[in-house]
Parts: sequence; structure tokens; C-alpha cells
Amino acid sequence: MNRTLQYFTVQESQRLLKPIIISVQAFSVVIVIFGIGDYSVDNNFGLLLFGLLFALYGGLFQVGQGWLNQNVWIKWVAMLIAIGITWVGLVIIPENWLAILHISTAFVAMILVIAFGRSIAWSFIGIVFLADFLYHLSFQHLDEVYFAEHLSMIIFSAAMTETLYRLTTSSAERVHRLTALNEFSRKITLSLEVEQVMSLLNAAIQSALDADTYFVGVLNGETLHLDLLYDDGEYFAPVDVPIEGSLSGWILRHRRSLFIPDLRKQIDLEGVKVVVTGNNKDNISWMGVPMIAPHIIGVIGIGSYKPDAFNRADFELLEHLGQQAALSLDSAHHHTEVERQSKLDSLTGTYNHGNFIRMMEEEAQEARMMNETMSLIMLDIDYFKQYNDTYGHLTGDLVLIQLVETIRKYIHTTDIVGRWGGEEFVICLPNTNGEQATLVSRRIQQTMMELRMTHPTKGDIPAPTVSQGVAVFPMEAEDVYKLVDVADQRLYIAKERGRNQIEPNENHWKKIINP
Ligand code: GH3
Ligand code: MG
Ligand code: MG
Repeated sequence: MNRTLQYFTVQESQRLLKPIIISVQAFSVVIVIFGIGDYSVDNNFGLLLFGLLFALYGGLFQVGQGWLNQNVWIKWVAMLIAIGITWVGLVIIPENWLAILHISTAFVAMILVIAFGRSIAWSFIGIVFLADFLYHLSFQHLDEVYFAEHLSMIIFSAAMTETLYRLTTSSAERVHRLTALNEFSRKITLSLEVEQVMSLLNAAIQSALDADTYFVGVLNGETLHLDLLYDDGEYFAPVDVPIEGSLSGWILRHRRSLFIPDLRKQIDLEGVKVVVTGNNKDNISWMGVPMIAPHIIGVIGIGSYKPDAFNRADFELLEHLGQQAALSLDSAHHHTEVERQSKLDSLTGTYNHGNFIRMMEEEAQEARMMNETMSLIMLDIDYFKQYNDTYGHLTGDLVLIQLVETIRKYIHTTDIVGRWGGEEFVICLPNTNGEQATLVSRRIQQTMMELRMTHPTKGDIPAPTVSQGVAVFPMEAEDVYKLVDVADQRLYIAKERGRNQIEPNENHWKKIINP
């Protein structure tokens, strides 16, 4: 990944250009004064004209607020105008005043590098000094003085250009990094979901750090669950990786950050085995920070295939990202948990009434679309009031928990269990026909009958039986409310038939298939 460095904003360029523009104009005034005065020997008009043209050029940058950085071609136009003026200068400035032209070239190079970047300034220096050389060559004015002056001015202009380039890019980088961190901090406080936090982290790392590889992992037992994993231009699906012997493991164990400029050198970290084969897809530089918050701990790791790819400022940025991400992931985690809990019945962990209906509706829609059958089992404990009265409410609660455990034993994780109310439960079985649903009912019935329970004082107690009503969608009901109605009526019939019954029995479904 190569980060595209946005050059300065127009305002920042203007602020940096200001002292140079003022110097250019002061310089031009001096030339003009010498042009007007009697000081020059031969062609003082040439000096005057060049001074005016050069002042005008500086002025263009002063008034042209809007066009800096606006168009790609503006920089070439600015360079061509400068070449034009320099050429005019070469022709009209008296021979012994030519040093002025060299200084003006250095000025223009400085302006160009700040306004448009390095390549344009270098092109300008190259073209101008080459043209100057060829011009003098054709008129045979070449002597040691010319060469000494010419060469020293090339070196000076080059040094100025390169120094200014580095200064501007490094402060642009700093600004860019702060902006990225700022944006991350601002947005992350509003993020309540893990995916959101991950996508913000991804954006911040991509824009502010020059990484070939990175991951964000949260500790899950002995493994690190990588929610975000990027390597060599590609994102990978979340995976669990062991932490034993890894750099991440060291970070988690010591709760400290790591900054490793070159992994090929001996790294002296207790218990860490790093194998670098040296092929170009191995991380050579690496840094990692821990994420520590009350309910989660994790690691962010960043790598590059180049040695010394990161500096201290990168490392500090990553530490900030790690701290903020940890807190956000923690609250996202908490939020998800609270949200999940709020949908569930607190005693049995099954979905509450409202959420069960909502989820069943989604399943019904899916079934309709896929042309599948969905079944509903409605289930009520027999004589539960009596049971409670005899063995106490707490024992009754235990039976409810046992019943749900029994149900879960015979259903898939994609099936949905809800508490319809009191001691009445509902089971939604997507992609399941009546016969299969009745089989599930039979198993629940059987297991409940075999359940052995013990009361602290009353000894062994019989577990209550259940009555069940089964109905299928869409054959017996066109929507979920009708489906609930049908199952409810059948549950009533099952009770009427003497309890511990399933209604309808298996033969009913054979009739539905072969009417
Ligand atoms: P039937 O066979 O007709 O279903 O008889 P039943 O006694 O089970 O029927 P009814 O609906 O009259 O009684 C339900 C009882 O379930 C009433 C209440 O004491 C008990 N119950 C409801 N919710 C809970 C609970 O959360 N815990 C406990 N222990 N009992 C509950
Ligand atoms: Mg009951
Ligand atoms: Mg009941």
C-alpha cells in the first residue's frame, strides 16, 4: 500500500510561499532600480524589463489563491511561464549581470517545489540550466568563471529544492496523521458495533500508516480472533489464530507495545519464535500494541515487507488507535450483550414473545421465498399449577430450565425457541415439515417423561409431562398469526385428549403429503 500524500491545502501553500514571494518582489525592485539608474554599463533596459517580468511572476502566485493545486496542468503552465521569463532574461540581461538570472532560477525552484511539488521544480532547474549552458555554448562565452557560477547555482538550487521538499512533506505527513487520528477519534465515539469499529480502524491505518500487513485481534481463550486481517492488498475472513510463541502473545502477556524495525535481527523476547525466511512477503518491520479494556483484551499488529518502515510517530499513532479502539470495542461488546439480553427471557434464555414473533416472521418470509416448509411447535406443561403448589415455585423454575435444555437437545441452532408466556413455549423450525417436527415433539415428550429430579427435602419427584400442538407453514396457515392459531388450537386438543399428547399424530402428515 502506498499512501498518497495529499500536498498542502491552498492556504498552507500560500502561507509558506509568502516570504519567498516577498523576497522575489524585493529582489525585483532592486533589479528595476538598477535598471532605471545609471549604474549599468550597456543595456539597462534589459534589467528593467526582466525585473518587472519577475515581479509580475511573483505577483501571479500572490493573487492566484484559487488555482494552486486546482488543475494538473496549472503547474506546467507556471513552469513554462517561468522558463519563458528566464529565456527573455537570458537574451536581454547584460552579460555581466547574469548572476541575477541564476538567483531568480533558485527563487522560482523554491516557489515551484512548495506550490506544486518536487518533480516540477526539478524539471525547471534541469531545463533552465541546460538552456543557459547551450545558449552560452553557442555564443562561446564559456570560461572558468561561468562554470564555477553555473555549477554552484545548480547545486544551490538543488539543495534548496530538496530541503524544502522534505520539510513540506514531513510537516504535511504530520498534519495528515493528526487529521486521520482526529477523524478516527471523532467517529469512534459514535460507534456501537464491532464491525463499525473495525472499519474505522481499517480506514485510519490505511490512510495514516504505510503498512503491507495488519490485523486487529481480540483474545478468545488461548486464541486470537482476528476480526480484521489485511495482507498484501487483500482482506481475509475472520480467523482464530493461536497466540503461543507469537509476537501478539508476548504483547498480551506483558501488556506492552512492541516496535521492531528489523525482524531478521536477533529479537530477544522471551518465548517468541519468529521465522523470517526473507522472501518479499515476510514482514521485516513490525509494531504491535495491546488493546486493554474491562471486558476485552486484544492486539493491533502492523507489518511491512521493508525494514525500518515505521518511525516513532507511527508507533505513537498506533498506540493512540489501540487505546481508543479498546474502549470502543469494549462498549460495542457491552452494547451487543445488553441488546441480546433484552431480547431474551431472563429465566430460560429463550426469546421473549415479541422477538420470537419478529424472528418467526423473518423465517416465514424466507420460507415463502425459498418455497420451503416451516413448522411451529407449541408446548405447555401439564398441571403445572399443581406441580408448583406441591413442590414450590423454585422447583417449578428448575423444571422450566430443564424443559428448555431438553428442547435444545433435539433442535438445530438455526431453530428458534421462545417463551410464549408462563409455562408455555414455542419452537419455530425453518425448513422442517410436519412429520419431522412431530419427531422432535416425540423426543421432547419422551425425555420429559424420563427426567429424574430431586427435591432437597421431598426426595425424588416426578417431572411433569408436556402437551404439544404442531402446525406447518404455509400449507395450514398463510401467515404466522394463523400458524400460531392452528398450533394453539391443536395444543388445546392435546390437553383435551388427556395431556402428555401431541396433536396431530403422525398419520395426519401422511394425509397432507398423499391427500
Ligand atoms: P394445564 O395442564 O391445563 O396446562 O394446567 P396448568 O396448571 O399447567 O395450567 P395453568 O395455565 O392454569 O397454570 C400455569 C401455571 O404455571 C401457573 C403458574 O403458577 C405457573 N407458572 C407460570 N410461570 C411460571 C414461572 O416462571 N415459574 C414457575 N415456577 N411457575 C410458573
Ligand atoms: Mg400448563
Ligand atoms: Mg399454560
